[in-house]
Amino acid sequence: MGKGKAFIFTAPSGSGKTTIVKHLLEKNSKLGFSISASTRDKRGRTEEHGKDYYFLSKDEFREHIENDAFIEWEEVYTGNYYGTLKKEVQRIWDEGRHVVFDVEVKGALKLKEYFGDDALAVFVKVPSLEELKKRLTGRGTESRESLSQRLYRAEFELTFENKFDVTLLNETIEDSFVKAEELVNNFLNQ
Ligand code: 5GP
Repeated sequence: MGKGKAFIFTAPSGSGKTTIVKHLLEKNSKLGFSISASTRDKRGRTEEHGKDYYFLSKDEFREHIENDAFIEWEEVYTGNYYGTLKKEVQRIWDEGRHVVFDVEVKGALKLKEYFGDDALAVFVKVPSLEELKKRLTGRGTESRESLSQRLYRAEFELTFENKFDVTLLNETIEDSFVKAEELVNNFLNQ
């Protein structure tokens, strides 16, 4: 069975990591996105099952936990579970690609521990909490309750920055695309 490298992108919700990850995947066909399992509701018009997430019921998710199918999983927001499937990583490696993760901070730390030197863990940071609030509000995807949960969690997540291999400060998205491409290429060439 094949074994490639792993790129772990983590950040508080709204920091732009998903946009950066999507850009990398479009640019580099050697990268494959690890589709997580999640019990949250699908964002109707923009998301697809089996592309953005495997959208599961809580019972299905629980079954995967019992079968030891996850490398890591977290209850990221109250009642909403997210997890990385072992099978998903193997699927991508078997295709001869390197795997890319888009996960919150605690899951990212577990993934880094699991993959060790085969992984580059990147912490994407917004310039400030005010900026984060602006971006989350502007995105228009969150209810008031969800927005406040995400901001509360973001403050906590920002304290974990120094546990990752590298920080990517997301000021303008174009600069971040370039920086992220460089990080990936340098890691693959080392
Ligand atoms: P969202 O609901 O905005 O898609 O994701 C919420 C948070 O959960 C984001 O920070 C996202 O990166 C994270 N997340 C997505 N998949 C996983 C996963 O498999 N494991 C963990 N720990 N977090 C995940």
